[in-house]
Formats: sequence, structure tokens, C-alpha cells
Amino acid sequence: MYVDNMIYIHAMNDEAPAKEKWQKELGALWPAAKGSLAKVYKPCIRKNCPACARGDKHPAWLLSFTSQGRRKVMYVPLALVPRIRRAVQNGRKIEKHLYRTGPDLIKLYRQTLKTNPNT
Ligand SMILES: [Zn+2]
Repeated sequence: MYVDNMIYIHAMNDEAPAKEKWQKELGALWPAAKGSLAKVYKPCIRKNCPACARGDKHPAWLLSFTSQGRRKVMYVPLALVPRIRRAVQNGRKIEKHLYRTGPDLIKLYRQTLKTNPNT
């Protein structure tokens, strides 16, 4: 029990710099969202809309995402488009980051194994 705690504390200390780096890198990627932003053209609901009567539809921005396995879509007000676009870009960066984390963690934990032959 005592030895287990010692090994645990040692592993925690080895992880501290990696964890701090990770928190800094991910913290800088706020705001973040998973999904895709798209501009679409849709007819409106107004009666006798001159734009729709001409066949010109109205631009709208949509965020598509998956929630509990279901594809969903949400309107994005024009004023929020730059922020949501940035969030989606950051979300992709975080995803890439997570793919890299697996191999990095294995390398880091291998070091822990070398310094703690008992683990
Ligand atoms: Zn219209």
C-alpha cells in the first residue's frame, strides 16, 4: 500500500509538466466547438417577399453537429458567425491534439516505467 502510493506520487510528478503544457495549449483554444458551419440560401416565411418572389433566397448560417448520435442543425445569427467559425476551427485543432496525445502519453508512461521498475 505504501509503495503503491509512492509510485503514484512519483508518476504524478512526472506528469505535471505534460499536464501543465496540455492545459495551456487547450486553454488557448477557447472557444471550441465540434461541428461544421455552412452558408445556405433559403426562402423566408414572409408573404409577398420581393426577394423570394424574384427567386433570390435569403442567406443563413447553420451549424451542423451530432448530439447523442443524431445529426442536428442550428441557425447561427450573422453577428455570431466569426466567433462560431473560430470555435469550429479550434475544435478541429483540439481533435488533432487529442490524436497526438495517445502516442505522447505512451512515451511519457514508458519513462515512468523505466524510473519505477516495480510498476
Ligand atoms: Zn424572402
